[in-house]
Amino acid sequence: MKNIITADSKEGSVLRRQCYPVQVPGEAVTAGTIISSLKEVVDNDKNAAGIAAPQLGFNKRIAVVSKNIMRSKEHFVIINPELKAIGPDTTTESESCLSFPGLSKKVKRYKNITISTLSNLSSNDRVTVKLTGYPARVVQHEVDHLNGITLIDK
Ligand SMILES: [Zn+2]
Repeated sequence: MKNIITADSKEGSVLRRQCYPVQVPGEAVTAGTIISSLKEVVDNDKNAAGIAAPQLGFNKRIAVVSKNIMRSKEHFVIINPELKAIGPDTTTESESCLSFPGLSKKVKRYKNITISTLSNLSSNDRVTVKLTGYPARVVQHEVDHLNGITLIDK
């Protein structure tokens, strides 16, 4: 399993970088490898709500949210996401992050969102999902990572 990059490590600056979109289908193989690595982390840590590519050192717009959070049979794979708030409602709750061990911080997030993601790695077809509550929160946390924004910035 790939090591999770923590903010205080010497590779920590990768967490502050804007990630690049995945080019499909050209980067499908690379993206597939990144997705497998992200899923492996989530499968190995029952407390992992999700993880984003930069946390494993990949500078690509990919993240995975645990199926436990999504209440789904499959982990939710986010590729080149477009996130939109539905309405102005927000909630403030504690969050933690695999890249900041031991830190818990209250963060204000939109309560309701839509997230559009590539549906596969062979075309630019998209799927849009509407989320509310905790799954919406976790998705917003992971998309922040793809923009180089971490828990301490919130
Ligand atoms: Zn995080």
